[in-house]
Amino acid sequence: MMSYNKNNIFAKILKKEIPCKKIFENEYVLSFHDINPQKKIHALIIPKGEYIDLDDFNHRASDSEIIALSKAITEVAKILGISVDTGKGYRVLTNLNDHGGQEVPHLHFHLFGGEKVGKMVE
Ligand code: AMP
Repeated sequence: MMSYNKNNIFAKILKKEIPCKKIFENEYVLSFHDINPQKKIHALIIPKGEYIDLDDFNHRASDSEIIALSKAITEVAKILGISVDTGKGYRVLTNLNDHGGQEVPHLHFHLFGGEKVGKMVE
């Protein structure tokens, strides 16, 4: 099992060593805009705890952390004005490890929207 790399870019954002364009924050979660947006809206939602990916998170995180991360997705969509109740909607995605194409080894959900996001997988 790979161990968490404390020097990954999102760990540095959490430690405020590098800046981010913050959207939302609470005790458990931070959300900010992706630096290289793939759609009109491309947000990232990350736990504050040190988790490599969704499997690691689901094995080790507390119920409070898991609930907070899931609810934050809906909260961020609401802040960005793309909730289902606006008639818009969005896509949520998380990559795991090699086949998933994960680049940053700190769990993150991508939120894509602001336009039709197209086919599911390229
Ligand atoms: P993944 O391939 O799922 O690991 O996605 C990593 C994402 O992090 C990519 O969409 C990058 O554009 C994004 N990213 C990398 N560095 C930063 C940063 N400093 N601030 C915001 N987003 C970043």
